[in-house]
Amino acid sequence: MEKKDIDWSKLGFAYQQTDMRYVSNYKDGAWDEGVLTADANITLNECACIFQYCQECFEGLKAYTTEDGRIVTFRPDLNAERMMDSAARLEMPQFPKERFIDAVNQVVKANAAYVPPFGSGATLYIRPYMMGTNPVIGVKPADEFQFRMFTTPVGPYFKGGAKPITIRVSDFDRAAPHGTGHIKAGLNYAMSLHAIVDAHQQGYDENMYLDAATRTKVEETGGANFIFVTKDNKVVTPKSRSILPSITRRSLMYVAKEYLGLEAEEREVTLEEVKDFAECGLCGTAAVISPVGKIVDHGKEILLPSGMDDMGPVIKKLYDTLTGIQMGRIEPPKGWIHVIE
Ligand SMILES: *Cc1c(COP(=O)(O)O)cnc(C)c1O
Repeated sequence: MEKKDIDWSKLGFAYQQTDMRYVSNYKDGAWDEGVLTADANITLNECACIFQYCQECFEGLKAYTTEDGRIVTFRPDLNAERMMDSAARLEMPQFPKERFIDAVNQVVKANAAYVPPFGSGATLYIRPYMMGTNPVIGVKPADEFQFRMFTTPVGPYFKGGAKPITIRVSDFDRAAPHGTGHIKAGLNYAMSLHAIVDAHQQGYDENMYLDAATRTKVEETGGANFIFVTKDNKVVTPKSRSILPSITRRSLMYVAKEYLGLEAEEREVTLEEVKDFAECGLCGTAAVISPVGKIVDHGKEILLPSGMDDMGPVIKKLYDTLTGIQMGRIEPPKGWIHVIE
């Protein structure tokens, strides 16, 4: 198959329309059979529930080419399950897991010419989402929905090496203790936009959010979970009901234990103890891990011993092992690599 004429190394993280997307509509209590379409636009009534009350959830995963030339995705079953959890919390119908995976297969195959070649560092980002589509003005859930999945090629996350970033402790909260922080919904991002624009204006790359109830415990950033490494090489990730359960973070904790023989623990992490860690990273699908070099808490600077030049040694090992598994250089745990065929 002929690849599109794209300079893969120059791609950033921006939407670029591809040929086909998958659409399925829910009406009268059932999903229709679903189709691939060339139409990238959606026409909805002005009063559609998504526009009025933001009834929407989404997912993010990527397709890429392994060393031996297969097109694969990483643990799409977990994206399917997480989207079912998000839909249930927002009173939306669940899109069945087998159908989600079938849609991934269809949409990636239909856009195979946009899947970047091995070694380019680029990937084909897949964005599944679901929204309430019928008119709703009195506050209640919609009863018609659309599930959609489009793709867009994106560039290597780190151009010229992974440079540690600087983050700040945010005065804004991301998620309430019994709210929606644990689901992947656009509404959690709408309210984070002001905080991230403000952080960038102040010269920071990201916000570290604390637990909203006590503001003493570390939660996550706007779109990535934390992992920390203690001075005696233990991997620690914050435990909280209001953190989004990152698939990358769950995979890294498994890799730490089962591949690297490290102790790995999910537990509450206080802001107070952050100064005692040796390494810190942000994990998510886009970057796998972004190393954090500095955390600023209202003028008080916490410099991670790993510094501002390179990833810390343990985070580097975690990064190399997980990307090795993803790229087919290291034997994966059963079910982690889904081949598109
Ligand atoms: C998507 C997301 C993550 C990262 O999850 P992955 O499954 O690893 O991509 C972390 N935090 C939030 C708030 C997210 O929306």
